[in-house]
Amino acid sequence: MINIGIVGYGNLGRGVEANLKNAPDMNLVGIFSRRNPDTLDTEATAYHIDDILNFKDEIDVLILCGGSRSDIPEQGPALAEHFNTVDSYDNHSQIPNYFESIDTVAKAHKYVSIIATGWDPGLFSLNRLIGEAILPKGDTYTFWGEGLSQGHGDAVRRVEGVKDGVQYTIPNTELIDQIHAGETVEYTSKSAHNRDVYVVLEEGADAEKVKNDIVTMPDYFEGYQTEVTFITEEELHANHAGLPHGGRVIRSGETSPDMQQVYEFGLDLGSNPEFTAAVNVAYARAAYKLHQEGHSGAQTVFDIAPKYLSPKSAADLRKELL
Ligand code: NAP
Repeated sequence: MINIGIVGYGNLGRGVEANLKNAPDMNLVGIFSRRNPDTLDTEATAYHIDDILNFKDEIDVLILCGGSRSDIPEQGPALAEHFNTVDSYDNHSQIPNYFESIDTVAKAHKYVSIIATGWDPGLFSLNRLIGEAILPKGDTYTFWGEGLSQGHGDAVRRVEGVKDGVQYTIPNTELIDQIHAGETVEYTSKSAHNRDVYVVLEEGADAEKVKNDIVTMPDYFEGYQTEVTFITEEELHANHAGLPHGGRVIRSGETSPDMQQVYEFGLDLGSNPEFTAAVNVAYARAAYKLHQEGHSGAQTVFDIAPKYLSPKSAADLRKELL
């Protein structure tokens, strides 16, 4: 049995707890939170994070489920001194710095830290690499959605006159069709995605002004095709409470003049955090096995052979899946 600890109990932490029930070779030792453990709504045993070092010999891998903005950059290197870790740090531009900071600690203390797993970064990154390696002459396109964007939803909810709201990122299917047809396209984040916003207004708010404030918001909506729909609070709770997401990575290239090839990887996710957590659990297995083999230091999805993700033996994998 691989003994697992969960650090941080938000969407991702709850997702890991759910996914561990599908892992025959794993056991959940406990959930570690900065909040009072008695206040967490879980059937598992919860502890305060300050007590985590008492579990140094009991836990094989910690799955870090804190936020990428400030939790993971702090908790990752601090915990890599005492445990193998897995996280889904997703601040793309800062990944090289984060890698260095946790690699130094993990190597010095002979633990394995697998960073930036999940789907993007994570499985999408892996497929961008494979597409590019196999079709060196070509272009890679990443489309996100349809899915709920947490950051854009937060931005909408800060607009004056908005009581509540959500934002869906919608991929431009015309552009995807053009890529499939082998056409050269003008791909930018703005041409590749539209934005659908659902807003509950504060009483007496000016709907036209709210709409205008949203569609002209720099960095978030300006330059995008944005649709704003006003709905009731009841509709919001009934129809927009889930966390769906997904998307696709497409590599379009040619292997000889005029011989077009398209490589594609897609995801259609009912719950973004629960799927991300499923990826974390598989990579926790890899962290355990790599540590058993004597490896140490930081690793990413690029470094890990697929066999480490599976509970099956290499011989069974060759027989059943090759
Ligand atoms: P979240 O729900 O906001 O949870 C983050 C942390 O906030 C938790 O670990 C928890 O720490 C604390 N928290 C949660 N609920 C709280 C509450 N009610 N009151 C006070 N504190 C609370 O974030 P998430 O949705 O789990 O996402 C975590 C990170 O995963 C994101 O920042 C994102 O970067 C990353 N992510 C990556 C991918 C990928 O594909 N790589 C995909 C999705 C998300 P404590 O228990 O210690 O308080």
